[in-house]
Amino acid sequence: MSRMACFRCPSRFGSLEVFGRISRAAARHAAARLRGVGLLAAHPRAGLRLAVCVRCPLRRVYGGEPYCGTPLTRKPVRDESTDGCGCPLNLKAADPNAHCPIVHAQDQQVGPCLCPWCRAERTADVDARTPRPTA
Ligand code: SF4
Ligand SMILES: [Zn+2]
Repeated sequence: MSRMACFRCPSRFGSLEVFGRISRAAARHAAARLRGVGLLAAHPRAGLRLAVCVRCPLRRVYGGEPYCGTPLTRKPVRDESTDGCGCPLNLKAADPNAHCPIVHAQDQQVGPCLCPWCRAERTADVDARTPRPTA
């Protein structure tokens, strides 16, 4: 028998956290609509982010669309560092303020973000600055 999360009962993570997560997802969808009509800037390296996700074991495809883990609507109670955040990846990758949820929460306290997206961006920056050998 499958279990549905109850929004009225305190869960292990707390119902307020679930509502906060759903609110953030709704805000991300609203921002994505504005980005789609050119009213908000998209992250310049959304493609690099999505390339990182393609290699990630948490990536899931539902209805032909890639998600960071099981979609939030199917699994509202979750640990984002192990389950993913449940957002559609095309929207999340375009959000300049988004990070990959893996290790982001603890790393942002102590220095540069070490999430896979931010690490890939720093590696790409170094590669771009490295002179190519001439033939
Ligand atoms: S955002 Fe991070 S955790 Fe989510 S699918 Fe992409 S690489 Fe994996
Ligand atoms: Zn990051």
